[in-house]
Amino acid sequence: MDCYNHAGYAAIAQCNDCGKGLCGTCAEKFHPPICDMCITVRNNYDKGQATKTIVLAVIALVIGLVIGVMMEAPLGSVIIFGLWAACIPFGWKTLTKITPRMFLFLPLVGWFIYFALKFALACVVGIVAMPIFVIKAIADLATAKKFDDYISQ
Ligand SMILES: [Zn+2]
Ligand SMILES: [Zn+2]
Repeated sequence: MDCYNHAGYAAIAQCNDCGKGLCGTCAEKFHPPICDMCITVRNNYDKGQATKTIVLAVIALVIGLVIGVMMEAPLGSVIIFGLWAACIPFGWKTLTKITPRMFLFLPLVGWFIYFALKFALACVVGIVAMPIFVIKAIADLATAKKFDDYISQ
C-alpha cells in the first residue's frame, strides 16, 4: 500500500480513523497517526462542540439577565443572577453524566421530584462546572485554530 498523500511512498502506518496508508512523514504529523482529512473532521467536531458550549453559556446568561431585569432587581444583582443562570445548564449536564440510569424507571411523581432536585443541585454544581466547561471550550477553540493553521500550511 502507498501513502494516500505521496504516491510511490510505501505506507508504514494507517490513519487511525479511516485506515488510509500513511508514509513516514505523514504518520509522524499526529499521534496517533491520522490523515489530514480525518484530523480536519475531528477538529471541526471539536470546534462545533466548543462553540455550542459557549453559545449555551451566553444564552443562559441572557435569560438570567432578562429575568433579573424583569424582577426589577438592582444592576449588581441582575449581573450575579445572569452569571448564576449561565452556570445552571452546566450543573445540569454534569449531573446527567453522573446520574445512574435507574432513575429512568421512576413513576411520574418521581420524575417531578427528580427534576426539582436535579435543578436545585444544578444551581450549586454549576457554579463549579460552568468555569470548567467554558475554559475547556476556549482552550479547545484555541487548539482547533492551531490545527487549522497547521493543516493549511
Ligand atoms: Zn483518515
Ligand atoms: Zn505521505
